[in-house]
Amino acid sequence: MDARDDQGKEGLVFNIQKYSVHDGPGIRTIVFLKGCALSCRWCSNPESQKYRPELAYNAGRCLGLDKCVRCLEVCVRGGLTRSDDGMPSIDRTHCEDCHMPCASACPAQGIIVYGQKRTVDDVLNVVEQDAAFYTRSSGGLTLSGGEPLFQGDFALALLREARLRCIKTAIETCGMAPEDIVRQAAPLLNYALFDIKHADSSVHEAHTGVPNARILANFRILAEEFPDLPILARTPVVPGFNDTEEAIAAIAAFLAPYAHVRYELLAYHRLGTQKYHFLNRTPPMGEATLANGRISRLQSVALGILRERVQMP
Ligand code: SF4
Ligand code: SF4
Repeated sequence: MDARDDQGKEGLVFNIQKYSVHDGPGIRTIVFLKGCALSCRWCSNPESQKYRPELAYNAGRCLGLDKCVRCLEVCVRGGLTRSDDGMPSIDRTHCEDCHMPCASACPAQGIIVYGQKRTVDDVLNVVEQDAAFYTRSSGGLTLSGGEPLFQGDFALALLREARLRCIKTAIETCGMAPEDIVRQAAPLLNYALFDIKHADSSVHEAHTGVPNARILANFRILAEEFPDLPILARTPVVPGFNDTEEAIAAIAAFLAPYAHVRYELLAYHRLGTQKYHFLNRTPPMGEATLANGRISRLQSVALGILRERVQMP
């Protein structure tokens, strides 16, 4: 593959976040790619799920139509009207295939677009700005999403270009991707954060929209065919889905044969709630919360199972 072929490749990116210390070793820049095959009810990045640009309206930033009519002036498709309270009202049925001039016209970021087309070169130029921090901290680039491998060709091109620029790479994946993409990505990675949400496929499908067979198979590919790749398996613990000892024990049992894989539980949070409202969607989880002390109890369950593997012959 000629490096010049990669640099011009385009993908849909909805955020680039610098100075992260949570998504892989050291100081990292996280590149969030649009699109995911799963539709998890607890998703904290709802703007990541659809593989297309999406219009978001934040009434808290909007100046109101008594002070500003810029969005109304540029909307020629009838997507914007004045509501009774003097604020813009958006009918998103008019917005498909629109190039969304209302967002660029808005002076206050009251209307924004989640998802911009960007080239590999453009993205890596931003990532490379912090190369000195990566060197000192063993950090680098983390691809996230959405599911970064949903845009497989683009994700692979980003990883190859990062390698060319001597930037270490990590991925945050839900594991739902074609196996050939997983096999191509693995040698380009220095670290993988791999979510395993439920060991029971029918429960997994009921809450995420897809069965788990492909995900578990991809995990085995990474763990067995690429044993030098450090993997952190993670389970977001979600009320009403997998916050039971049985569910976590089943995942820990799946992971037990892989002594080099670390495991971490992530507590469900509601930080993405506001973004559902910006997108005019109802947060599917409502007011659900995790029971007090649940995470520490489940951590003990997982630890009890994974500790034993050290003693396995
Ligand atoms: S995206 Fe297009 S149609 Fe929708 S409100 Fe903005 S300008 Fe109007
Ligand atoms: S352009 Fe922005 S600030 Fe002005 S009315 Fe529209 S959304 Fe509000």
